[in-house]
Amino acid sequence: MNAQPQRTPVSKLSIPHKHLLSIEALSREDINTILDLSEYYVVQNRRKSQTNALLKGLVLVNLFLENSTRTRLSFEMAAKRLGADVINMTVEGSSIKKGESFIDTLKTLNAMRPDLFVIRAGEEGSAEKASNILECPVLNAGDGTREHPTQALLDALTLRRHFGRLEGLNVAICGDILHSRVAHSNLHLFKKMGVNVKCVGPTELMPLAAGGTQDMKAGLSGADAIMVLRIQKERMQKALSLTEVQYFKTFGLTAERLAFAKEGAVILHPGPMNRDVEIDAEIADDPKRSLITTQVEMGVAVRMACLDLLTRSAR
Ligand code: ASP
Repeated sequence: MNAQPQRTPVSKLSIPHKHLLSIEALSREDINTILDLSEYYVVQNRRKSQTNALLKGLVLVNLFLENSTRTRLSFEMAAKRLGADVINMTVEGSSIKKGESFIDTLKTLNAMRPDLFVIRAGEEGSAEKASNILECPVLNAGDGTREHPTQALLDALTLRRHFGRLEGLNVAICGDILHSRVAHSNLHLFKKMGVNVKCVGPTELMPLAAGGTQDMKAGLSGADAIMVLRIQKERMQKALSLTEVQYFKTFGLTAERLAFAKEGAVILHPGPMNRDVEIDAEIADDPKRSLITTQVEMGVAVRMACLDLLTRSAR
């Protein structure tokens, strides 16, 4: 793995944004800045003493209206490693269950004057709505099928560290692209960073604009990396025409299909994984090919970098 050389001292890095709502809104330069600062946090997180006091005295509210393991915990860990206090809120424990509207909930939270606000919600545009109400920086942790910017950034960091670059890489995105905010954020990011992308999966899970293929051999050939996606049943209007067994037979990433890609091609998956549905259980655990746990590690560093950058002007 090659760490990217630091171009600008970390103390001088900045991005011209108050919020992190989408990859679409970021420039190539912003993305490089976030990745460069993330490199610094990867190194810091591997040291014995991992915490610092950068965000001491600040309170981050983590509002998750959809389930999450990785994103919620890594935002919490990132904030705590930077010395902030974290309040976690889920729909189950909130007054949304008593009929309070989303907007009233946001107004209530704003009145408490949090310093940072992380939101995941099932409706597209929720983070934008929050940014119009909250006075502090808002970070989008996934809004419906639209965007999941910190996931795309951590994927980019994982790839950049593995290959030493992003420009010119060939990435295949495989599976349910239609319902995947991870795919949508990555498609924006890859375009901005000069990564060549092929989408592969069943036509019923492929957005028209993706120009994808159903043919796994054609989709995976020449790939340096394959990003495998879960079937997002919870977002489907009607059931998939394939059973899970049929899906695995036709579109599951197996060792034979991995061989269509370049020799040594690596595998990414944002999680949660459904083993033996979209990916063969064994290759998901192959330490030579799978970067899945590295992605999780990179997620903490990327989120630390984002929290750091968005609070720089206020510190
Ligand atoms: N964890 C990712 C997301 O929240 C991917 C997934 O759920 O399949 O979008």
